[in-house]
Amino acid sequence: KFSSAHRLGFGSANPTGKIPLGLKRKGLRIVVTGGAGFVGSHLVDRLIARGDSVIVVDNFFTGRKQNVMHHFGNPNFELIRHDVVEPLLLEVDQIYHLACPASPVHYKFNPVKTIISFILLQNLITGLAKRVGARFLLTSTSEVYGDPLQHPQKETYWGNVNPIGVRSCYDEGKRTAETLTMDYHRGAGVEVRIARIFNTYGPRMCIDDGRVVSNFVAQALRKEPLTVYGDGKQTRSFQYVSDLVGGLMRLMEGEHIGPFNLGNPGEFTMLELAEVVQETIDPNAKIEFRPNTEDDPHKRKPDISRAKQLLGWEPKVSLRKGLPLMVSDFRQRIFGDHKEGSN
Ligand code: NAD
Ligand code: UDP
Repeated sequence: KFSSAHRLGFGSANPTGKIPLGLKRKGLRIVVTGGAGFVGSHLVDRLIARGDSVIVVDNFFTGRKQNVMHHFGNPNFELIRHDVVEPLLLEVDQIYHLACPASPVHYKFNPVKTIISFILLQNLITGLAKRVGARFLLTSTSEVYGDPLQHPQKETYWGNVNPIGVRSCYDEGKRTAETLTMDYHRGAGVEVRIARIFNTYGPRMCIDDGRVVSNFVAQALRKEPLTVYGDGKQTRSFQYVSDLVGGLMRLMEGEHIGPFNLGNPGEFTMLELAEVVQETIDPNAKIEFRPNTEDDPHKRKPDISRAKQLLGWEPKVSLRKGLPLMVSDFRQRIFGDHKEGSN
């Protein structure tokens, strides 16, 4: 639970914990880095709805103003164009750190920038979290398990990661980010939380970001063949975005550092996913096989017992329920006749 000092944004920097007259505020002050992106913008919606004041920090590499435009003019909302590798000083109570390209196409675009942004995480932690005693939540990833030799993956599994491969800038980068986060916690007493997020989909995903769900949905809507990479027998477990956002908030508010797997254990091969997309959008959609990308993990499925037990969290939306919600957003954005970010 947060003290009154935390609610003011002074965190442990305010030794009395008393609220100066006239500075009482209802909600928390929260920074969401990457808040103009897919997951971040849904999180921002929930925090604003709860009555918090939210500052979005984003460089718009993969995010879009349209995702948060509906908050413009709200005094509880601010948007800062800023690259998180540069120092930033703000007085806040909580930091949700999501800024980072998540699609393999995006994070491989400039791999050096990707890995460096994880190492420079210290700017964020020292400038925002350590200085004012704010709680810092890192959005890590199931990629820390690499091409896993244990299935499903538990948080205790240390992973099977290629340190010199084309995905390493992201998976080794996130592993480094977890290390830095824990070192600041142990060494400087920074309050931290770590979420390991599994594949997540929903409205506002970038349409052409190369991820499998966004690709298949856009392809089916455009009457193009669904591009299955490799033999299509590799698996992923797909989580709807509202479930993830609920899990992130529970983690932030709870007493446990983690890491916690946040994902939906419903596991699908890519061919099965293509079938669900066919059922949902177009039963006549064709499938086209393409060569797979290097180091692609063969299987992935979260063991979420820890999150169930300690956070009281589990996902509620199945793939067959969640997919149509994303399809209507994609349909509007692809065929026009829409207001972007209106979901
Ligand atoms: P996204 O690409 O839609 O959003 C990322 C946001 O961060 C974008 O708005 C982008 O412009 C911003 N950004 C990127 N680099 C930045 C920088 N250097 N400075 C400031 N802003 C920057 O991705 P997403 O799917 O919303 O993912 C959000 C977070 O969740 C990421 O950290 C990602 O690694 C993690 N994650 C997502 C998934 C998933 O399936 N969506 C799975 C595992 C982990
Ligand atoms: N994939 C696919 N067709 C596509 C895009 C991706 O078959 O058009 C496969 C990809 O090879 C991988 C899986 O789908 O096995 C998930 O890929 P994605 O990029 O969505 O996420 P990640 O690999 O990061 O889990």
